[in-house]
Amino acid sequence: MDETFILGIDLGTTNSLAAWLTQDGPEVIRDAGGGALVPSVVAFSPDGSVTVGAPARAHAVENPLATVYSVKRLMGRGIGDIRGDMTFLPYAVEPADDGTIRVNVQGRRFSPQELSAIILRDVKSRAEAALDRSITQAVITVPAYFDDAQRQATRDAGRIAGLDVKRIVNEPTAAALAYGLDRKEDARIAVYDFGGGTFDVSILSVAGGVFQVLSTNGDTQLGGDDLDRELIDLITSEIREEFGQELSFPPATRQALRAFAEAAKIRLSEFDSATVEVALGKGRTFRRTITRREFEQRAGRWVEHTIEHCRRALADAALQPGDVDEVVMVGGSTRIPLVQKRVGELFGRTPYTAINPDEVVALGAAVQAVILAGTHRDTLLLDVTPLSLGIETLGGAMGKLIMRNTTIPCQAAEDFTTYVDGQTSVDIHVLQGERELAKDCRSLGKFQLRDIPPMPASMPRIHVTFLLDANGILNVSAREQRSGQEASVQITAARGLSKEQVDTMVNESYVHAVEDMTAHRLIDLRNESARILGAIEKALHRAGDVMSDAQRRLLDSAVNTLREKMDGCDDPDELYAAMAAANDAADPLTRAQLDEVIRKTAKGKKLDDF
Ligand code: AMP
Repeated sequence: MDETFILGIDLGTTNSLAAWLTQDGPEVIRDAGGGALVPSVVAFSPDGSVTVGAPARAHAVENPLATVYSVKRLMGRGIGDIRGDMTFLPYAVEPADDGTIRVNVQGRRFSPQELSAIILRDVKSRAEAALDRSITQAVITVPAYFDDAQRQATRDAGRIAGLDVKRIVNEPTAAALAYGLDRKEDARIAVYDFGGGTFDVSILSVAGGVFQVLSTNGDTQLGGDDLDRELIDLITSEIREEFGQELSFPPATRQALRAFAEAAKIRLSEFDSATVEVALGKGRTFRRTITRREFEQRAGRWVEHTIEHCRRALADAALQPGDVDEVVMVGGSTRIPLVQKRVGELFGRTPYTAINPDEVVALGAAVQAVILAGTHRDTLLLDVTPLSLGIETLGGAMGKLIMRNTTIPCQAAEDFTTYVDGQTSVDIHVLQGERELAKDCRSLGKFQLRDIPPMPASMPRIHVTFLLDANGILNVSAREQRSGQEASVQITAARGLSKEQVDTMVNESYVHAVEDMTAHRLIDLRNESARILGAIEKALHRAGDVMSDAQRRLLDSAVNTLREKMDGCDDPDELYAAMAAANDAADPLTRAQLDEVIRKTAKGKKLDDF
């Protein structure tokens, strides 16, 4: 058995998950279907059997008294501590003799530690199955505001589950570790954690690899559920307006409304609108398209509450927003663009969102586990960028913006344009690698710049900026300069790449150097040929009659040859020759156009004016 293996576990209020450190960096443990999250729910059947996770959660509707969720809220607490929570919990909670809590399920009494242990045991056995090894040691994360009793209860839960808990780690510290922020020298980090049912913000300091919590603030009853409720209220009030105030919503409809509202909210993180359709029985259907703007107007006040908590946390740490060096986002609700925008505005910097906000704490726990185990932490040292970074350009070429071995942090920018008249969106595909064609490089992510006002091809100026920071986080943003439209994406450029993989990618670029250069040149020439053919077509349309018959025949023949070569020829020199011939044959047209421009400019002016 491997004595050094330690599992990282994020034991959450709603979901739990585990991660470990592979050769290629931390990875969450997934089941065969790719799922990583185990709902933190335990259900008891009348026959005494126990289920955990998604099947247990499904059980909640039919048997709420025997389905235990949110047990994390009970850990290490006395009955007096949880009076506020008790109204929300459908299952029975009672005081124990020692002042702690017992959950009474059909007459059987469980401590919160025992219930958490059932979840931990499930997480452990999933990991054992996925990794095909036995696991006896773990690092478990807890909120920074957990007191000693809550931490001790978490440790006990681990022990009951058969785990030697090597360390209890603060969730914000784990999130910062996942981003490699332990390597920062003397920095202040804000960790903003907006989940489904809770919100908290922590201000940390880090120096010499040691984190310290300077302050925490938050609200254990504020989360994505509140945003869902805003949409549910909007929908139900409009349904009543349309179909009558007396309309009632049976539990199944309420359940469906909740699911639709959450789905709409999630869609609105990516799209400008989301349509909800609710069947109300008797052939009645309510249909409503909700715009992102509408959602933001309603969600805004909740987001502002979180910002207010951030201000309080800053005040408690005696810091100004500008004193914070890095901002890390945790929790599913941080995918909401308004949340990212407002947090960015408060701290005056782009928050880190590159790592999946539902997985970042577990990934950090795995990093902590390896630090404790003393085994080597995968450090693809990021003093330089190991591979070039760029975007896919027209025709499938790789346009490099940052060359490999550039010292980081670094920044690069380039202007691009559109190739089609009236084009209103551009796909930006971020690539990593040394090869010349996009298909041979590693895809890091994609995003779309939308709502570009329609303009003739080549008119928009799309300024693409790459910013690679000292932790290997790549921010790519695109801005259309005339309209100000912007979009961006954040990526962990080094994630999942081992030294060997980097070496292989670099070596392949040498092996394929000649064919790659030829392919890239062909793409460039084809693009240029397409541009020339388009220009000739436009010029012919405007001033086709300036050419003699012979000139026109020559041009037609050159254009036909170029068209054929564009599609069928793989020799860049041949294509270049055809392109040059078409350009030459279009000379009379070009001259006529030039004369026209000069005539227009000179109109009404005397020679002396020039
Ligand atoms: P967590 O507790 O961190 O798992 O967060 C779960 C919350 O995040 C739930 O309220 C989800 O509805 C919310 N959530 C997940 N994905 C998104 C998304 N793309 N946009 C908005 N909210 C989301």
